[in-house]
Amino acid sequence: MTLRCQLSLGGRTVPLLDRARIYTCGITPYDVTHLGHAATFVWADALSRVLRALDVEPITCRNVTDVDEVLDVAAWRAGSEYDRFAAIQQFEFEGDMAALNVRPPEHEPRAHRYVDAVARLAGALLTTGDAYTRGGSVYFRGRAVVRASGLDVGRARALAGEYGGRLDDPAKEDPFDVAVWQAAEPDHPEWESPWGPGRPGWHAECVAMSLSAFGVGVDFHAGGADLAFPHHAYHRAMAEAVTGVRPYARAWLHAGTVTVDGAKMAKSAGNLVRVEDLLAAAPAAVVRMMILDRPWARDWDYTPELLEVAADRVDRLYRAAARPGGGDADETLGLLSRDLDVTAAVDLATDVGGASARRLASVLGLA
Ligand SMILES: [Zn+2]
Repeated sequence: MTLRCQLSLGGRTVPLLDRARIYTCGITPYDVTHLGHAATFVWADALSRVLRALDVEPITCRNVTDVDEVLDVAAWRAGSEYDRFAAIQQFEFEGDMAALNVRPPEHEPRAHRYVDAVARLAGALLTTGDAYTRGGSVYFRGRAVVRASGLDVGRARALAGEYGGRLDDPAKEDPFDVAVWQAAEPDHPEWESPWGPGRPGWHAECVAMSLSAFGVGVDFHAGGADLAFPHHAYHRAMAEAVTGVRPYARAWLHAGTVTVDGAKMAKSAGNLVRVEDLLAAAPAAVVRMMILDRPWARDWDYTPELLEVAADRVDRLYRAAARPGGGDADETLGLLSRDLDVTAAVDLATDVGGASARRLASVLGLA
């Protein structure tokens, strides 16, 4: 029995007993999986593997946002129904994750099956006074979300606009209010609701899926750093408003953004580094090492040379693992439990070698 059952993450210490709930914001399945996605899911995978090594059973949930405006447009361009299009993209994504040695989640809710749950969420938020109806839509009051985020209003406005916040929608009382339920519009799927035909809002979908999987809250919520605002800020606020339980998440894992020549990876920028191409160039252990051998919250710039550096790190770890002896493997686990310090753990395990190095390679999914 090990009595070490706490993990610190982002300055927050999270004492744990025997289980931990991890919700990871999954993909909107409309395009190929790139290194930016991979970084988020490999870090969430590392978190769950470290918990398992600490004798805490991770219960993981990674959703699929298959009802989404960006997806609708991509499906329309491809001449496909949104759900069929999403299912094919999701299949490709799961293949990439398996090739990266990312364990499949226990729960994998798909947004299109949670439309009723979102309608119920909208109804509950109307009851608590946190939402109001206008023209067939239900809007969540967002001004307090911006205040709680600590962002200045200009920055919040830019981010909300970038992520589909429709700041200039005249139906809203405040530009920062967001649709929990969006009234029907042409070229989008629609469902019946007490407010007329419409579709669920993005943040509300994740709230419905996380509360359905886990009840009132989670131990860890993971996602890319670009989801911190508005997506996670609104998710948290809606979940807390409807359950009355605070905080919704005990700790957040916002994996740093991956850039190429300083620019965020995006199809429109033409700078996607595809997981498929990375895995053609290097084994999964090397790609995982490249992602994990750094502070998880820090943004980083991808260059092909980083794969060579990671290959060298993996090679030295494997050679160290082949040595006899190796002392106290718990020491590396201690480093991992302190803010997932992979770099320090790899340094130590490579130095000590033997059992320590073998254990670390196994815990991080590098073996
Ligand atoms: Zn989400």
